[in-house]
Order: sequence, then structure tokens, then C-alpha cells
Amino acid sequence: MTDYLLLRNARVGGALRHIHCRDGVILAIDTDDSREVPESAVVLDLAGRVVLPPFVNGHAHLDKTFWSMPWQKHLPGTSIRQCVDRERSIRAAMTEPQWPRALALAQRMVAAGVGVIRSHVDVDTLVGVTGVEALVAVRERLAGLVDMQLVAFPQSGILADRGVAELLDEALGGGVDVIGGLDPLGIDGNVEAHLDVVFGLAGKHGAPVDIHLHDTGPEGLDEIRQICDRTIALGMQDAVTISHAYALGAEHLDAVRPVIDRLAEAGVSIMTDGPVGMTPPVRLLHEAGVVVLSGSDGIRDAWSPYGVPQMGPIATQLAYQSKMYDDDDFELVADVVTIHGSRVVGIAGHGLEPGCRADLNVLDATAVAEVVAEAISPSLVLRGGRRVQAAVDPWPAITGLADVRLAQA
Ligand SMILES: [Zn+2]
Repeated sequence: MTDYLLLRNARVGGALRHIHCRDGVILAIDTDDSREVPESAVVLDLAGRVVLPPFVNGHAHLDKTFWSMPWQKHLPGTSIRQCVDRERSIRAAMTEPQWPRALALAQRMVAAGVGVIRSHVDVDTLVGVTGVEALVAVRERLAGLVDMQLVAFPQSGILADRGVAELLDEALGGGVDVIGGLDPLGIDGNVEAHLDVVFGLAGKHGAPVDIHLHDTGPEGLDEIRQICDRTIALGMQDAVTISHAYALGAEHLDAVRPVIDRLAEAGVSIMTDGPVGMTPPVRLLHEAGVVVLSGSDGIRDAWSPYGVPQMGPIATQLAYQSKMYDDDDFELVADVVTIHGSRVVGIAGHGLEPGCRADLNVLDATAVAEVVAEAISPSLVLRGGRRVQAAVDPWPAITGLADVRLAQA
């Protein structure tokens, strides 16, 4: 283990700094280079490269992925309900264990500089809590490399799939950290009854809440209001997230603004990955005091053939769909995919401050804005002051095959 690491000329925010790390913790971030370091110190001159805290993937579905399998032809669905049913039939036909796929994808995320993952895990009457058991095992395998939080996710509904409420309860007692929900109106047709179960289990287990909400129209906005009302009534400020919240991006701003004010009052955070035409107004939410985080959502699964483990492309997508073009906005999005996410997930000691863990991403960029505009991934990933090697090197040395050397610019 490296006892002392000095990163000289690191770009932190807009300025050059010298980051001193000792025993896996950030000791100091200095403006000058006068601090004495032990002879044994490892010193890297970053020559102005950007340093960021680890990326936070605040919304993944590791249990669903086909990652590491041969390519699966995608069968599109036309409604959430149809996609749910199609995924159930695909899952019923799969005989291989799911944990190797989840582990392979999570490892790629770690290699891409992701330090925190909040993964939803399906809980329904078909799979029971087998996905939870698989993801708990993956989390144990990756302890120390990534902080993983699991959400019990009723993908088939709660009222629409009798028995799910009891399974969610079991999942929360079996290693899951957060209680999830799904379109109380669109999937279950009864907002009150759906939220009764979700917030009831949150109270019983002292668990935060993270609800998928794809419902749009005035009904979607009303569901957000109802979630805020419950949050305030139960004193759960800062412990509730709404994922997607398409209604905030799809409806007219005149109708959305009062809902944003209510979200701020309730301390409810919003997760978005920048969907076309339905991206919530990130800048407005931030200025109102609502914490916005982001994530990959599903990667290569029955819902979508798309998705990558790197957070750079997700940041770019979010900024582009938000029609952002200036550096202040790009820097906001960089916060969304790093420190804002860690605030919501509740991971302490995660940031570019003395006393935080030396979990750092070094990026070949001259400004934070460039990272977002160009979807740049880290060239060096440090965890506790140690280098994380890429999980996969697909082309190790090939005997007899010459390299082409590209001229240096
Ligand atoms: Zn999701």
C-alpha cells in the first residue's frame, strides 16, 4: 500500500492544487508546493489534468443486465406494462445465475471511476428475493472498491402483483437499504394504496425511499405532490428520491414550478439520466434547492439495448438534453454525477476535501466543463490512494503484430 501520495499540479475546480494523501486519506490540498513529503512518497505530476471525486451512479439495475453475455437482440415494447411482462418471460427462460453478469458490469463501472452505485433490484412473485441475494453477494465481493446501496424495486407493481409487499419487507430485512416504488398510478392504479405500502415499509425499517415515476401529465405532477406531502408528514426530508420524474420535464413550466417549490420544501431529490423530451429542468431544480443526481439506469437489458458503465457519456447526455452550453452549467452537471449523488446516497467522506478518502479520478482534460462536454472518462482511478487497474484488457500483447505510433500533437 502507498503510504504517501502527492498529486502535483492537479486541476481542482478552476485552479491548480497539490493534493497530499496519507494512508488512503486526503491530508491536504495546497495552493503552493512547499509542504515537505517523506522520501518514500509517490509523486505524480498531473500537469494540469482535472481531478474529480468518484462518479456516483445513483440509479442502476445491475440485476437486469445481459452484460458479459453474447449480444441479445432487443424486442421493443410500446408500454411500461408490456415491457414488464416481456422481461418476466425472458427472465423465466434464463437458467444461468445472474450474479456473474452483475459483478462483471459493476467491475467495469469501478474501472471507469464509479465509486458509489445505487442499484435497484427486482422483487416480485417470479424472482422473489433471489436478485437481492445475488446483489448482496456482489456488494461483498466489491467491498472497499465501491460503496453499493441496494433498493428493493417492485418492477411488477405492488398491488398488481399480490405478495410483493411481503417480499419487499423480506428484502429490507435481508440486506437491502432502500425501499423502492413504481408508478403508483400507471402500474398499480391506486396512488394512496401504493404509497401506503412504500412509506409503511420505510417507517418499519427506517429506510430511505426511491420511487420510479414515469407517469406524465397533471396526474404525474400530482403524484410528485403526494410523495412530497407524505415525506413532510413523516419527517422524511432528505431521505426520499423520485427517479425519472418525467412529468417535470414533459409538462409546461407554469405547472412545474410550484411542484419544484414543493420538492424543495420536502427535501425530495430527483434522479434523471437525461431522457429525450422528458429531462427535468436541472438548473431550476438546483436553484430551488432540490438535489439532482444521475445514473445509468438499465444497461443492455430487456428494457434497452443501450447503456455504458462510464458516467461521462451520461453527464454529456444530461447536459445536452438540458440544452446546456456554458461552463457554469457543465460544472453543475459534474456535481450532479459526483458530489450531489453522494449526498443523496448518504456516503460520508466522499469529496475533494482534507479528511475524505483518497478516492480520486484523474481525467485528461483542462477544465471540468471539458469532461462533461466531451464525455471524458478517467485515465487514472484511485481508491484509498491505490490505483484501480482496468478490469478488462481485451487486447494484451499480440506476438508479431506491430504497433502504429501516432505523432504527438
Ligand atoms: Zn430504473
